[in-house]
Amino acid sequence: MACLINFLSFAVILCAMTSEYQIQLEDEAATLRFGAALARATFFDPENVPTELIEGIGVPTIGGIIHLQGDLGAGKTTLTRGLMRGYGYRGAVKSPTYTIVEPYEFERCCIYHFDLYRLLDPEEVEYLGADDYFNRANLCLIEWAENGAGIVPAADLKIEIESAGTGRLLKCQSLTDKGATIAKRLWP
Ligand code: ADP
Ligand code: MG
Repeated sequence: MACLINFLSFAVILCAMTSEYQIQLEDEAATLRFGAALARATFFDPENVPTELIEGIGVPTIGGIIHLQGDLGAGKTTLTRGLMRGYGYRGAVKSPTYTIVEPYEFERCCIYHFDLYRLLDPEEVEYLGADDYFNRANLCLIEWAENGAGIVPAADLKIEIESAGTGRLLKCQSLTDKGATIAKRLWP
């Protein structure tokens, strides 16, 4: 009985921590803008960021694990590109489909963009040494996280993108306190 009560209170706490938000993104530019807004929402101190970001320096981040879900071509990499622009990075943001992970290591923050679409075995992430990147201080964006089950950490924030007419519908779920902080900054 005590076990059941414990389980039920855990489930209630989990439900209370989980919140869902959504936004319509009418075109690619809107996805890039949302990515930049997501960047700001992950800054350590969003109120204190210079207007002109210096390339290669980055911005202190609260870090976190963000799972990006949606079909091929949904806009997961586009969103990541917008986020990287928001961190002041102007270089190419390529899809790491073949390399599995693209590291962006700056003076003030480390951001890792994973695409596990072609992963055959979750342990490949370990062979690459990429599991070292799953440090709470780093910001990790993970496409196809389900292919890394058992290795990839649970999400603070889950973002799902689906087609909606000629644009996209983005749904966002916060699953931890950190995820809630990020979501509340986006949807105050
Ligand atoms: P994924 O990483 O999910 O496979 P990509 O970001 O590589 O997808 O590609 C998404 C495609 O959809 C790109 O061609 C991009 O121009 C387009 N796109 C991105 N966001 C939108 C949007 N909100 N509306 C319409 N097209 C979009
Ligand atoms: Mg992609």
